[in-house]
Amino acid sequence: SSSGEALAEPRIETLLDDADRAFRDVLGATPDGAWFAPGRLNLVGEHTDYNGGFVLPLALERGAVACVRRRDDDLVRVHSTDLGSTVQVRLGDVGPDAGLDWAAYVAGVGWAAAQRGLPVPGIDLAVSSNVPAGAGLSSSAALSCVTARAWADLAGWDLPDVEIAALGRDAENHVAGAPTGVMDQLASVCGRKGHALEIDTRSVEITWLPFDPAAAGLALLVIDSRTPHALVDGAYAERRESCRRAAAALGVEELRDVPVDGLEQRLAELPDLLRRRARHVVTDSDRVEQAAALLTSGADPRELGPLLDASHASMRDDFEITVPTVDTIQRAAVAAGAYGARMTGGGFGGCVIALVDAGAVDRVTAAVTDAAARAGHPTPVAFVAEPGDGARRLR
Ligand code: ADP
Ligand code: MG
Repeated sequence: SSSGEALAEPRIETLLDDADRAFRDVLGATPDGAWFAPGRLNLVGEHTDYNGGFVLPLALERGAVACVRRRDDDLVRVHSTDLGSTVQVRLGDVGPDAGLDWAAYVAGVGWAAAQRGLPVPGIDLAVSSNVPAGAGLSSSAALSCVTARAWADLAGWDLPDVEIAALGRDAENHVAGAPTGVMDQLASVCGRKGHALEIDTRSVEITWLPFDPAAAGLALLVIDSRTPHALVDGAYAERRESCRRAAAALGVEELRDVPVDGLEQRLAELPDLLRRRARHVVTDSDRVEQAAALLTSGADPRELGPLLDASHASMRDDFEITVPTVDTIQRAAVAAGAYGARMTGGGFGGCVIALVDAGAVDRVTAAVTDAAARAGHPTPVAFVAEPGDGARRLR
């Protein structure tokens, strides 16, 4: 069954063994320590983070483990057991357009620290991750943040968590060339077991809200459509540009500044495309605030269901970032009794989250697997997510 596949995913201890072995075998040295940083799952609030709006992510129990050693020179040597790839670069050669491929997420952290005037020693780093890449669970933030946490500890950078996250974001934005907001890295660094993080992306203020589906007899099922997002730079650029133009046309700095009350009248003056793009951002940010209010009041988490469904419809019809594989899974999950379901992550593939009764995990998994097969889509892989702790040293 699919839950059997999920159980076969490597645990943190296994990741640690793999990273440690690769460190010794491939890099030929002994690590100073080992660190972990999680992937993240966004409950609601998609593409709101570059509009100054709200997001509601949680840190996963899955993530990247890195064994790391401080060097006496300016060399950065990195190995990924997942890609079987080793890259070596001098710190002075790291920067925008350095063409470092995946190693940009690691070496870019050193570049970001140097930009801040911090002393940056070279490092050796071997990483193993169990976050699927390109599935909307931020494998990239797990990688950039485990690097930032480890490098900071080894170099003695005394930075608050928000600044550790900013190093990861800068590596992604400027060296890897991935235009993410700051949600992914904040969730990976600042996550807390049993909590979701409501983040005001304008003030970068975080509120930790208790979220424990298991305690309510529920499971947060993550269903990977096995259609990773790829080559979507143009689509992302269009969404960002549409949001910028919509804000300008509405005479506000960011779409964050458009109140949800009276939204339709306000948007009536916009051309159809901009109206739909703006409507998604404003309503999804509002859904974050509604969801946060539910969690704050200790309401039954089942009440989140309609917000998840509405968010999916908004991403599908207004923001147009879903694809048939995820739409099929979302529909099948709801039809099989999920309280609500939505695609999570930047879109164009990736994962669907479904809030289901704990006892319904196998039934819903079977239903979405069936639906995908009938549509001729790849076989989805499902696992149950629990909100976990953020980046930390393991040993
Ligand atoms: P997402 O963050 O949604 O998983 P991204 O496209 O932002 O997708 O990041 C995926 C990229 O991050 C990969 O293409 C690769 O460059 C890098 N990456 C993630 N995990 C690893 C890993 N374990 N080893 C090497 N590179 C990785
Ligand atoms: Mg990413």
